[in-house]
Order: sequence, then C-alpha cells, then structure tokens
Amino acid sequence: MKLGNHMWKKTAAVFMAVMLLATLVLPGSIRHAAAAEAGTRIVLDGQTIEGAEPIVIAGTTMVPIRIVSEQLGYSVNWNQNSGRITIGSSSSPPLILTLGSLTAESANHTIAMEQAPFVRSNTTYVPLRFVGSQMGLGVKWEQASQTVYLQSRLEEPAAPATPAVPVPSTPVGSAPVDSVPVVSTPSSAASIDSISFSDKRLTISAGASVTPKSTVLSNPDRIVVDLPNSAFGPGLLQKENLSLGKVATLPVSNSAVVKQVRYSLFSESPSTVRVVLDLNRSVGYNLYTQGNLVIVDLNDDGIAPPAGTNGKKIVVIDPGHGDHDSGGVGNGVKEKGVVLNVGLKVAALLKQEPNIDLIMTRSDDTFVTLDGRAQLANNAEADVYVSIHANMASSSSAGGTETFYADAARSKSLSDTIQKHVLEATGFRDRGSKQANYLVIRKTNMPAALVEIGFLSNKQEAALMTQDSFQQKVAEAIVAGIKEYLKLN
Ligand SMILES: [Zn+2]
Repeated sequence: MKLGNHMWKKTAAVFMAVMLLATLVLPGSIRHAAAAEAGTRIVLDGQTIEGAEPIVIAGTTMVPIRIVSEQLGYSVNWNQNSGRITIGSSSSPPLILTLGSLTAESANHTIAMEQAPFVRSNTTYVPLRFVGSQMGLGVKWEQASQTVYLQSRLEEPAAPATPAVPVPSTPVGSAPVDSVPVVSTPSSAASIDSISFSDKRLTISAGASVTPKSTVLSNPDRIVVDLPNSAFGPGLLQKENLSLGKVATLPVSNSAVVKQVRYSLFSESPSTVRVVLDLNRSVGYNLYTQGNLVIVDLNDDGIAPPAGTNGKKIVVIDPGHGDHDSGGVGNGVKEKGVVLNVGLKVAALLKQEPNIDLIMTRSDDTFVTLDGRAQLANNAEADVYVSIHANMASSSSAGGTETFYADAARSKSLSDTIQKHVLEATGFRDRGSKQANYLVIRKTNMPAALVEIGFLSNKQEAALMTQDSFQQKVAEAIVAGIKEYLKLN
C-alpha cells in the first residue's frame, strides 16, 4: 500500500502564532547552515529549500526556522541582549522563544521543546518536532534519503457544529446494555466498526472507505486522527453512549509509546469521528488507508512500511465476542475475557516475529460485529485469520479442543495445523479439525480458522483456561501453528 498518504494538517488556530516562530534569523545572518550536515535537505511543500541543512543534536533534528518564515512571512523581533525572539502576526498573540531555553511562551501557555533553540552560523535552529507539532506544519523525516519534509497546507479542523435543525435525539445512553441501540448511521457516513491497537499499529475498520486527516499535538504528545463523513457503527455504539462529545477509551498495554486511545464523535455536521492516540513521547508515524481500513503505524522515523509490505505476512487475530456479548459463560468464567487474554498473548508473541504484521479485530472489551470482523480481515488482505473462542455444552462432562474451517480448499490445512498445536498445549480431548459455516470463517476470503480452546462448561477445563500460564501455552501454540502454516521458522 501507499506510503505517500500522509495527511498534513494545521493545528488549532491558537498555535498559528507559533508559526511565526519561523524567522529566527539573526541580524546579519548569512545563508549557510552547518556544513557538517551536508547531504541532508529540507523540502517545504514539495520544494527543496536551498542552503537549509538540518543539524542533529543528541538525536533531535534541529532545523533553521527562518526557512519557514521566509515562506510564510511572519514578523520577528530579535532582542540580542535578552536572547528573546518574539514572533507575531496581526491575528495571533505573540510567541516568545529564548535561546538556550527549553520552553517557549505564548499568551496562555508554555510549550516544551526537546532541545533549546540555538544559534549557529548566525542562524537559529529549533527542534523539527517542535516545528511540526507547534507550528502547524506537517513534518516527516525520511532516514533513507536524509530528507525533512515540511508541509504547510492549511486545513482547519472540523469544528463541532450545531445543526440548524435539531437532530432527532437517539436514546443511545439509555438503551439497556444488551440491546442494540437504534442508531442509524447518516446515510452518507461510513460506519466505524472497530478500533484496535496491536504492536505499534492502530487499526480502524470502517464500513466504507474514509479519508483520514491527522494532526500532531504536544503537551501532552498526541496524534489526532479525524475521519470525515464517518459515524460509529452499532458495535462501538453499544459499548458507550457515544453521542456528540462523549469520549470512549481503548486501554493500551505493552506499549512504550502509546498510553491509551480515545475516540469520540467530534462533529455531527458533517459527521466526524475523532480518534486520539495519547503518547508517552512524540513519535513519527505513517497514516494510510488499506481498503476500508485506516492504519496508523507508529515508528520513530515516520516511515513504517504499510502492513504486508517487505514480504511480511498479515495475520488477523480475532478474540471472539466482547462487551455486552460475553460469549459462553461457564463455571463463572466468561468466554470474552479468556479469549481476549489469549489473543493479547498471541499479539505479544507475534510482535516478536519479523515476518508477520499483526492486526487485531479487538484489543479490549469492545464488541465488533461478525461482519465487521470478516470485513476487517478482507480489507487488510490478510494471509491468515484466526478466531479464538471457548466452548460451551449443556453437559458438564463435555470437553476437548476443536478447530473449524468453512471452506476446505482454502482453510482446512490451516485449521488442521492450529488444531494440532493447540491440542498439544491444552492436553484436552481431540475433537478434531472440522467443517462449519461460522460467519467469520465463511465470509473471510483468506485461509481462516476458528479454534475452540476448551469447554467453559467443563469445570477442569474452565479452571485451566483462566490460568495465565495455560493461556500463555495456548497462545504459543496458536503462534506455532500460524508459523508452521506460513512456513516461517
Ligand atoms: Zn465463542
């Protein structure tokens, strides 16, 4: 998939002032930056800026900020005695930078920088990331070509608008937990069916193609992804009252970079879903679409290759059920929890696999429709789909491990391989690898298997399935099966 799909966007107007920052050229400056970085270059809006080489200081890319001001024309006052640079425009409060200081000041807030501005060869340098997040410029550093790309295209964020005609109120929040809220997606809007995070990848699955727009903000660091002409589908609406302004949280564990993901209906007119990644630190990323999927790949150089490139196999892991849909409940154990735990353990293992790109249908206690799960895998053009479940029976003596495929030609071999490995891990009775027309394995168009680890209605099996070490063993077995099937060893 495309690499060139970065969406650039202005930050909020309050930061416009910062853009002024731009000109920290000292009086009498000359056009040459440090010669040591010859070979690196800066491209602004597609044009290479001559004589403006970035400098890397302690891992932070510093850029001469005059290049921006020259293009955008803001006023700059430089006080040599105080070392303060005041940047202003007729429409924004001034922004003040101080040489050697890690903070910049504006009328109402303080902005932290990774490195303090400094002067070299009569040119003032500021951190590239600061330029991106605070000056409303899109930023991308491409290691391979040693190029900094800056993009100034202005696109104001969609403002929450109050429709002239009141929207018929839909009692989403008052709906009983188990009922499907009667909320229809505006006909022109794509439904957002699932949002999951795995590895370094946020995957948003939509019912139709959407064109995402992203913004990077700091203090705290976060990436904002807006999905114009979209609205929450029934699965996500069921979880929360996601009426305008209500925010749901997707917890993220095992990520050094991402704290959590939040999502909300940002605007009703036009209907816009906003997804925010709350970060522990600033990080580069690649935003792209693949079919109806919107994917944010986090990567420090911002050039993470899209899923499935470089010969990698795309594996979709689908922990069954979720949220109001508990799946089977036996001996006090809910299927949705067991299979999520196993799924997250599979995810943690697959993360270590250099030849596998992982996508989860869900990574928390949310519900994704069955169609939504299959569509996600189809849109991802996955190589393998594995749905994880636990079984129930009316008889407490029933037990064992079984795996299903829908289409023998397409999926029996995968199902057989998963069954062999998981059976070995559980030590339960062998119920075999069998044909069944479950929707998720029938509607997925790649090799697809649905594994039933064991029976929650069976006391011993249920007890084992809640154990962390047992879940880990099963996860390892699923991974071993996937790797054997994909001939990755
Ligand atoms: Zn199930």
